[in-house]
Amino acid sequence: MEQRKYPFSWEPGWSFSRMNTLRSCLRLYWYEYYAKRFAPEHEKNRIMELNQLSRIPFELGNAVHQTVAEILKELQINDNVISLEEAKTTAVNKFEILIKNKPLIEKRLGVPFTEEEHEKAHGQIMTSITTFYGSKWLTMMQGMPRKTWNSWLIDPPGYGEFRIEGKKAYAKPDLVFSYKDGRHYLVEWKSGKPHRDENLVQVQAYMFYAKDVMGLDLEKTVGVVQYLTYPSEKPIEVEGRLVNPMEMRNKVLSELKLIESLCEDVASNTPKPIGHFAKTEEPGYCELCKYREICRPDFVMPEKQ
Ligand code: SF4
Repeated sequence: MEQRKYPFSWEPGWSFSRMNTLRSCLRLYWYEYYAKRFAPEHEKNRIMELNQLSRIPFELGNAVHQTVAEILKELQINDNVISLEEAKTTAVNKFEILIKNKPLIEKRLGVPFTEEEHEKAHGQIMTSITTFYGSKWLTMMQGMPRKTWNSWLIDPPGYGEFRIEGKKAYAKPDLVFSYKDGRHYLVEWKSGKPHRDENLVQVQAYMFYAKDVMGLDLEKTVGVVQYLTYPSEKPIEVEGRLVNPMEMRNKVLSELKLIESLCEDVASNTPKPIGHFAKTEEPGYCELCKYREICRPDFVMPEKQ
């Protein structure tokens, strides 16, 4: 797979997470995508420091994703599936290491991570790994001839840059494998709450990535979202042959227009003045926002009920 198919360009690109940020808070969007280049000099260092902060739920997802990728790589290379118990322990240990070593917004704001929440997080990690072991994807992969296993793409590197009508976009599945039905499965593991409509768009974008970057025929791809932490939630399975490429293309292009409307100059990815990036009216977003100390220093955390 090519890692850099396109020359570097400054234009902003579409991505699922960029759109999520843009919809939640325009000021947050500015901090995330423009502060590094356009913040006043005296604020830059602090913003860059805040930018590095992670969150406990995010690290929970990282621990699960990394463990799943390691299990699949171990299977691919050594034809060995580690036991469920070992996998659960590995994932929980990974989570503990991550939250111990990463700078976390919860720590910075002094938000306690209670014993009860800690236990709940461990439970969610173990549920996620158990769901993965019970999922049909693992069975399907193992059901293919051993010699085809080296074609599995596990946790592809890079940012997943591709083009739609020449416009920059980013999307990258967690796993790509081929099955005996002649189709290529593009899988996304989700450890957060299900947002089916948004996830549907995300997985359809993977099909365009697979077509543009990997040369896979859209008609022969299946986009999958498996909700690991919510085992009762039915996975999303979208068949490429039923996707209307025009509709998807138009959706991405119209969202890109929204991204571009916040630029003074699209070619150099220069944003409009900061006044165009309103602070959210929804205080829930600010509670654990990593930029809160500079954006809303007077914010008062609501009392827990
Ligand atoms: S503190 Fe609130 S208003 Fe400011 S960037 Fe974060 S979410 Fe937006």
